[in-house]
Amino acid sequence: MTTRKEFCKSCLAAMLAGLGAPLLAGRREEEVKAKAKKEEEKIIGACGIVCSDCPAYVATKTDDDGLRAKTATEWSAMYHADIKPQDINCDGCPSAGPRLFAHCLECEIRACAHGRKLVTCAECSDYACQKLKGFFAMVPQAQQTLEGLRRQ
Ligand code: SF4
Ligand code: SF4
Repeated sequence: MTTRKEFCKSCLAAMLAGLGAPLLAGRREEEVKAKAKKEEEKIIGACGIVCSDCPAYVATKTDDDGLRAKTATEWSAMYHADIKPQDINCDGCPSAGPRLFAHCLECEIRACAHGRKLVTCAECSDYACQKLKGFFAMVPQAQQTLEGLRRQ
């Protein structure tokens, strides 16, 4: 959905473009390109979770102990488990490891997709199977991500 800010920005762009503002149009084109590049660089897990946005991934890539500690506290509460900051190390679902968060290492969707030599379930001929549908019910954003990949 378009936010009010995005709406106002596009109105302003349209107004200035109408007045002949090629500079703004050029900048906007750069923004669109940068956004597209960012989309391309996204690391997407088998289930549709965007690993490159995951705090475990970010903390690993930036070696951020503060983020590890914060994530461990939040995930301990969320998963009712004793997750320590040192457990927050992950190179993302497509990685072969060894640095993978324990929950994702044991994930049956990941195991299934990788067993079929697929990076994500979006490529699967059985999409969306029952276990994936069950996951989508909990994480609808993952479904949106995989549907987006299937449209490409
Ligand atoms: S595989 Fe790693 S980066 Fe991806 S969602 Fe799981 S913990 Fe996060
Ligand atoms: S069968 Fe289901 S979990 Fe396995 S790869 Fe296909 S869609 Fe994913």
